[in-house]
Amino acid sequence: MRKKIAAANWKMNLSWKEGEELINQLLDRHAEIPSGHQVILAVPFPYLALAARLVAGRAGFAIAAQNCYHMSSGAYTGEVSASMLSSIGIQYCILGHSERREYQQETPAQLADKLKLCFGQSITPIFCCGESLSIRENGDPSRFVRKQLDASLSQLTAAQIAQLVIAYEPIWAIGTGKTATSAQAQEMHLAIRSYLRVTYGNNIADTIPILYGGSVKSNNATEIFANSDVDGGLVGGASLIADEFSAIIKALP
Ligand code: PEP
Repeated sequence: MRKKIAAANWKMNLSWKEGEELINQLLDRHAEIPSGHQVILAVPFPYLALAARLVAGRAGFAIAAQNCYHMSSGAYTGEVSASMLSSIGIQYCILGHSERREYQQETPAQLADKLKLCFGQSITPIFCCGESLSIRENGDPSRFVRKQLDASLSQLTAAQIAQLVIAYEPIWAIGTGKTATSAQAQEMHLAIRSYLRVTYGNNIADTIPILYGGSVKSNNATEIFANSDVDGGLVGGASLIADEFSAIIKALP
């Protein structure tokens, strides 16, 4: 059985007071997370240690970083390393979000380095992939995503790949209110799982959770999560509202 995951990506939102209140509301409403389910909260860097303390001892909750740097340490002012994240108990790290690929010009090679650094610190990467609207309308989205995965995953060992979480996030559906249909999501998730099957074998393909991201809300989560190759969601906007994210957690199959 693959883990079913509801992951919140707060991006650059909320004061710590608002964030603390949101986490406490989620902890109150979800006194017990069913085994096999995982709730992950990707909070801004300054809140990581505080958030990790709030969820400490609460099975089923974990804190993620939204990024880490592609070098291990040194004179890189303003950057945060995977080992720093590990030193404060962070278990997950989002890598390759389309906003970072676009605004910070993150390259596949840098992402490959970040993946290795995270694995070196026993941090589970949530690796994002997904096509633009023009590729969706005029190109071959599954070929594009396969190439995107290949470009950053090919140097990892099979043992590392087996630990990965993948998030399929069509760029045209992020923050736009436009969700991929349930059938479109399943089609792409199946394509990603088939790529994993061909490249790494059945065991790995059947183990890796593949999350859907792109305007997931309480009113569409159940339908999207019901697909056989969708193992939960990476949620932006709706993760900032306790009622919404709570309903999304409850929609995990
Ligand atoms: C995201 O940022 O990963 C995301 C999916 O955002 P939203 O849910 O707001 O589309």
